[in-house]
Order: sequence, then structure tokens, then C-alpha cells
Amino acid sequence: MTRLFAAGERALLLDTKSRRYLVTLTVAGEFHTHAGYVHHDDLIGQPEGTSVRSSGGARYLAVRPTLSDFVLKMPRGAQVIYPKDLGPILMLADVFPGARILEAGVGSGALSMTLLRAGAEVVGYELRSDFSDKAQSNVAAFLGPDGVSRYRVEERDVYEGIDEVELDRVVLDLPEPWRVVKHAEAALHPGGILVSYLPTIGQVAQLREELAQTRFGMTETIEVLQRSWHVEGPSVRPDHRMVAHTGFLTASRLLGG
Ligand code: SAH
Repeated sequence: MTRLFAAGERALLLDTKSRRYLVTLTVAGEFHTHAGYVHHDDLIGQPEGTSVRSSGGARYLAVRPTLSDFVLKMPRGAQVIYPKDLGPILMLADVFPGARILEAGVGSGALSMTLLRAGAEVVGYELRSDFSDKAQSNVAAFLGPDGVSRYRVEERDVYEGIDEVELDRVVLDLPEPWRVVKHAEAALHPGGILVSYLPTIGQVAQLREELAQTRFGMTETIEVLQRSWHVEGPSVRPDHRMVAHTGFLTASRLLGG
């Protein structure tokens, strides 16, 4: 069934140059642009894909934001993990509905939202209360009460230990994940998976040395390169620019013995 835009929900507006704006629709609200304003009421009650004109005559296309759109536009405290890495993390960590996941640190909550969207139950450890607040409000804004009900963030240092037991997965985005390996070894059940996102290869080497001294095995490290293409008439070629580097992904399984 077609869900029409309603007051209170978010719309992503694209101008003719494909610039993107995230707007929360309100009755009688206005979205101000360099070309006048768009009346929210012109969108409320319309289906996605509707085009509207601003008072200055500019055209805007409206769709609901995807998780990827939201992650790139949402309020941020800490740097977020980008969609190109968020998707592969779901596969490396083999996230499934009901999976019990410990995530640290939580930052702005981009990874939390991705894990929750895949149906997981997430406990987050985060040092900073301002980030933890931001992550929780982003989860509430995009995933609503269902997401919130499967999400708990504790203000604490994961290097000091993990209280949870019988976890399915531990997912880390912090500077010294080797300091979490012993805790993860105790908190995961056999077959459980640890995934760590790290910006530099020296950090990866240190993590892998630590993993090699524990019951973790089947360890793999990858990086994900994403190259977009310019497709316009006969001009079909890779774009001139790409994001050269974000981070390395390392996944490891807790084995018996
Ligand atoms: N993955 C997040 C971004 C995390 S940024 C996202 O996609 O939005 C890294 C976060 O780790 C920061 O918020 C920092 O405060 C937190 N952090 C660093 N060391 C930590 C520790 N020992 N325990 C808990 N959180 C920690």
C-alpha cells in the first residue's frame, strides 16, 4: 500500500543538482532554500517521488530518507562509519534478528542504527554522555519505539570489562580494540564473532597479534573500496573522485578449547 507523506515524518528533498536536504514535515511548515521556500503542506498527503516547486521556482524531488541518507545527514558528535562499511559489517558480523550484540563505542549511533535495523538487540558502551544522548536520539528519530526497545546505552569504559555474557557478537569502533579482546573472549559464546573497525593498519596489526594469543580464530581483515560511475549519454566512466580511505574491517570468531 502506498504510504503518503504525513506530518512528523522525514522527507529527503533533492534539488536539480542532486543536493540533498533532510526535512521534518510539519503542518504549515516551510523549508527555506536559496530559491525561496517549499511549503510542507505541498508534500503532506503526497506519495514519494512527488516534485514540488519553491516560491522562487526551483524544483525539489521528495522521497523518504533511506538509512544511508539518514546516516549522512543526521546530527553527529563523533565521526560516523559510512554506509560503504556499514553494509559489509552486517555480513562480517553475520547480524541476524534477535542477535545479542555489545557495541563500543557508540559515537553518533550510525552503526547502532544499522545493527538495530537488521533486528539485533544492542547494548552500547560509550564513554561520553553527550555522544550517548545523540546516538539514542538518532535511533529514536529513525527507528522509532521498536528500535529504542532493543537498544540500551551505558556510560562506561569497555576497556574495564564487559558485564554481558552469552553474547552473539561484539562490534568495536574505538582506538584500542586489543584492550577489549580478553573481555570479548569471556563475554561471547563459542562461535561468536568480534568485528573491529580501525582507521590505520598499525592498529590492525596490534589487534591481530592480540587475537592470535587467544581462542579467537578464522580472523580476516578487509577494506572496502567503492567507486561510483558517471553515466550520462555517451560519457560513461568512473567518477574522477572517490573516497580513498575510511577504515579496515577485521572479523574473528571465538573458537572452543
Ligand atoms: N561507530 C560510531 C562512531 C564511534 S566513534 C558510529 O558509526 O556512529 C568512537 C566512539 O568511541 C567515541 O564516541 C568515543 O567516545 C568512544 N570510545 C572511545 N574509547 C572508548 C572506551 N574505552 N569505552 C567506550 N567508548 C569509547
